[in-house]
Amino acid sequence: MKIENKILILGGTHGNEKTGVSVVKSLQRKEYKNLEALIANPKAVEKNLRFIEADLNRNFDLPGKTYEHKLAKSLKKTFKKSGFIIEFHNTKSKSNDCGIIVTKPNKAHINLAKYFKLNKVLIMPRKGSVSSFNPDNFFSIELERNSKIYTVKYIMEKLSALELPFPTQNGLADLFEFTGKTFYKKDLARANVDIQKLTNFKAFNKSDKKKLGLSLDLIYVPIFIGEYGKDFGFHVALFKGQR
Ligand SMILES: [Zn+2]
Repeated sequence: MKIENKILILGGTHGNEKTGVSVVKSLQRKEYKNLEALIANPKAVEKNLRFIEADLNRNFDLPGKTYEHKLAKSLKKTFKKSGFIIEFHNTKSKSNDCGIIVTKPNKAHINLAKYFKLNKVLIMPRKGSVSSFNPDNFFSIELERNSKIYTVKYIMEKLSALELPFPTQNGLADLFEFTGKTFYKKDLARANVDIQKLTNFKAFNKSDKKKLGLSLDLIYVPIFIGEYGKDFGFHVALFKGQR
């Protein structure tokens, strides 16, 4: 198979995120024409930990001597033999399912988001991410843990029918970009913003935008509500239109 036609499916970048691990293990049981599958951080998967010494998805292109830094070096060699990489992550945050990229969206990114019926593409910082290796040919899928919609069976059906170049899809996907703003529980208490009333990817109302110091002229949404520890509130993303 030509490298440019080969799709690499990556699971277990974070070892405690099981959807991708199950998908990779299912794919590895059979031969597929266009697909290869790999557990990114096998030791972390074995121990059911996000990482062993350093977060692989925050250190991928950064210098260091940890297990994950060494792992990144060997993963890069494998990545060079793939035309496109699709990576799976899980979040405990509800209604946060989306595609994640670290560059300007291209046709492949948008088509994949629609193909998986995610219809939301989030642009996150490139630095340290596994996708920094080749952002134009890399697409991460963030799914709620134990999702009733995104079951391993559903994902396997979609993946096994996938070929490069990805087929053009109808409809529109919403595009969002991380603003770099993060609010913690203590910030929200001080600003009198009720986190219970917020939904991921649902626009802040005018009153909350005022309280959070966000421009009233733009559409902002919370993302990853409650994802990172008990003190974490949410990140803020800016709506960038539809594609
Ligand atoms: Zn993850």
